Amino acid sequence: MQDFAYHAPPTVAEAIALFAADPEGSRYLAGGTDLFLALEHGSSAVRSVIDLKAIPGLDGIAVQPDGGHRLGALLPMDDLMRDRAIRTNYRALAESAEVVGGPPIRNRATLGGNLCNASPAADTAVPLVAFMAMAVLSSASGGRAIPVVRLWEAPGRTVLRPGELMTAIELPPPLPASASTFERLTRSAMDIALLSASAVISLNDDGTCRLVTLALGAVAPTVISIPEAGEVLRDTNCDDAALARVVKAVIETVRPIDDIRASAEYRREMAGVLAKRALARAYAIAIEPAGITR
Ligand SMILES: Cc1cc2nc3c(=O)[nH]c(=O)nc-3n(C[C@H](O)[C@H](O)[C@H](O)COP(=O)(O)OP(=O)(O)OC[C@H]3O[C@@H](n4cnc5c(N)ncnc54)[C@H](O)[C@@H]3O)c2cc1C
Repeated sequence: MQDFAYHAPPTVAEAIALFAADPEGSRYLAGGTDLFLALEHGSSAVRSVIDLKAIPGLDGIAVQPDGGHRLGALLPMDDLMRDRAIRTNYRALAESAEVVGGPPIRNRATLGGNLCNASPAADTAVPLVAFMAMAVLSSASGGRAIPVVRLWEAPGRTVLRPGELMTAIELPPPLPASASTFERLTRSAMDIALLSASAVISLNDDGTCRLVTLALGAVAPTVISIPEAGEVLRDTNCDDAALARVVKAVIETVRPIDDIRASAEYRREMAGVLAKRALARAYAIAIEPAGITR
């Protein structure tokens, strides 16, 4: 590993100032589960590592006045998957955090790091896109919030400006009569996702779908959403004919790669299977407590 200076600033402003002193040679450090691998194998010269963990207040979960939830970017996966409010209101997100690596990884790996690493297979990124979450960013010139789905340009590349720091992820208030699911396909439990899908469904009083979102991971250079799912399933009972139309849209949209873990063709077919599974399960969970018979 290369030699570098290590800093642990106590505030966001100081972290940003340290980064600005050497934008080319600086990296933010959260849990380090991706960064240290990159430093071991990377070719770019890193001279300064800025540890964000000493900054207070970046690792909590806060309920917002509108009922939404604000998650600190430094929130470890283990805390996220155990939080009762998240498990109840944003179940797919808890399910995704639960499968990130093994227990030692989940103790260190953070939500912000999972997003900023910009892998199209990042597990928590998929439900965050389905929930239409916002990423809160801070820089010397101020702050901004952007939809999580617009965070990435390519594998390993975000839209963050040099030195911009992610401080939080904001989830909108939970929808009424709703449910969410996360589905993942892997070769082994400890492997990253071959494919993943997340669905959020909110129902009308008569049991038809009011709002549906669907996001897919590892099927394109970035995590993507499938807007056709909402258009096709609105006011339906999520029946087989409607789901078949969504599957067709998924298969036509995805752009998976061939690699040693699976062929593009297999991934394309399975994207449809996983999307259908995520949607059907979300619908089944949403309709059950409502006591609506079809
Ligand atoms: C054995 C193993 C198994 C794994 N399994 C999975 C898995 O199943 N699913 C999965 O999704 N991932 C997996 N990962 C990848 C990794 O654990 C996650 O991506 C993790 O969430 C990264 O978070 P971190 O806090 O460790 O990030 P770090 O490694 O600290 O940072 C990652 C990148 O994001 C940047 N960064 C971090 N935080 C911020 C911030 N707040 N603002 C701006 N930039 C920031 C860093 O500069 C760096 O470029 C695995 C990794 C290992 C080593």
